[in-house]
Amino acid sequence: MPALSLVVPCYNEADNLVELHEQACAAASTLGVDVEFLLVDDGSSDDTLAVARRLAGTDPRVRVVRLSRNFGKEAAMLAGLRHARGEAVAILDGDLQHPPELLVPMYTMLVSTDVEQVVARRDRTDDPLVRSLLSRLYYRLVNGLIESVRIQDGVGDFRVLSRRVVDAVLELQERNRFSKGLFSWVGFPTGTVSYRNVKRGAGRSGWTLRSLLNYGIDGALAFNSRPLRLLMHLGGWAAMAAVGYLAVLLVGYLVNGVTVPGYITTIAVITGLSGIQLLAVGVMGEYIGRIYQEVKARPAYLVHEVIESPGHEDD
Ligand code: UDP
Ligand code: MG
Repeated sequence: MPALSLVVPCYNEADNLVELHEQACAAASTLGVDVEFLLVDDGSSDDTLAVARRLAGTDPRVRVVRLSRNFGKEAAMLAGLRHARGEAVAILDGDLQHPPELLVPMYTMLVSTDVEQVVARRDRTDDPLVRSLLSRLYYRLVNGLIESVRIQDGVGDFRVLSRRVVDAVLELQERNRFSKGLFSWVGFPTGTVSYRNVKRGAGRSGWTLRSLLNYGIDGALAFNSRPLRLLMHLGGWAAMAAVGYLAVLLVGYLVNGVTVPGYITTIAVITGLSGIQLLAVGVMGEYIGRIYQEVKARPAYLVHEVIESPGHEDD
């Protein structure tokens, strides 16, 4: 059993893999531990699979899990975690944004202190101002909506996990996986290593603004039903406002008698309330959609093949 598995979800990372492998090998030899590489090809449309195959051909420590199509990073990470055999497991991106040399302090912290997870936390020095403001706002919002877990700004999926944490995460059965939250949910003492943000290697990020927004909504909804609770509060306030306004109207009626005008009020009430109702239905629909997906119980991904290195010996 290797001491450390490196799980790398790859979607169109052909131009980064060789460099990544090299840097990770250097980190492994600094550490002086036995590692395995688990490259998960998430249905790439470029040469990622060929490059990964070639790496497996030359390095017996490389294993490639090829998914049947693109299932998304969450699924790719899950596949990697399930296939990892290491005593500890590191997850890092295939685009060199998670510098492999950081594995040295991270792994060292994991084995030499009593922490069970070590997360890398990037700073935002090189981010455009708007972007860092937006993400700060996002974390504030999400943490306000989610109870029982904290999601830290700048903390991504770059982490080293003990076997105990990996097994705990794999035990969570949910299909809508929001890893940032899951890792935090399982708990255990967690250490942090900070690093300077780096630009992506070759290729482009798979994220669009829209998918980021959807990811954000997922994060807020995946964990609990607090948004539903908020809607209940909103409904309560709206009902109380209605009663108050009714009282005002009643007093007006008693003092002035019947006064017909009230067109603007009527329109405001109709549009305002139907807005709130549509919002509520939307949020409920989100939860129902999630229930639907969980009930269908489809697997998070399908494996096309697992490519073992020819030099690999089973142990
Ligand atoms: N990734 C993946 N499947 C996808 C999209 C991305 O496995 O559908 C991988 C990608 O190859 C990379 C990591 O997830 O290793 C992070 O992706 P990306 O760099 O696009 O995201 P960002 O760094 O912008 O968050
Ligand atoms: Mg990236």
